[in-house]
Amino acid sequence: MVIKANTDEIKQMRQKINGYTEKAETLRLMIEANTHEMQELCPHPRECLREGEHLPEGIIFFASPPFTVCTCCGYAEEGWCGYGKLNNYYSEVPRLSRDNAQKLVLGRIATREELGKLKYPKKKGE
Ligand SMILES: [Zn+2]
Repeated sequence: MVIKANTDEIKQMRQKINGYTEKAETLRLMIEANTHEMQELCPHPRECLREGEHLPEGIIFFASPPFTVCTCCGYAEEGWCGYGKLNNYYSEVPRLSRDNAQKLVLGRIATREELGKLKYPKKKGE
């Protein structure tokens, strides 16, 4: 038979869990900030780049573009027709299966829309 806790004990347990949740959020933000900093500083050397294959169109989903990932820092970009920060080496990047390339990504894959904003930033007033 399990002996149940009283309400004070449950409140203490709840506070403890809330404390862990706050620490987890702090750690998540630290991981995000450090990842961003590392990916901005990484030179994304050619020997570190891999391309994940595109996903062909299926019965219930549209095709997804290939993506390139830097195995050093985990930064990744999607693209059919070239990339943004990883653009210089597009034609010489070894290919991997989509799943294996996805495992190398740290954070999320920058979308084509986001890369377009990098290449063609809006002017003031637009
Ligand atoms: Zn990199």
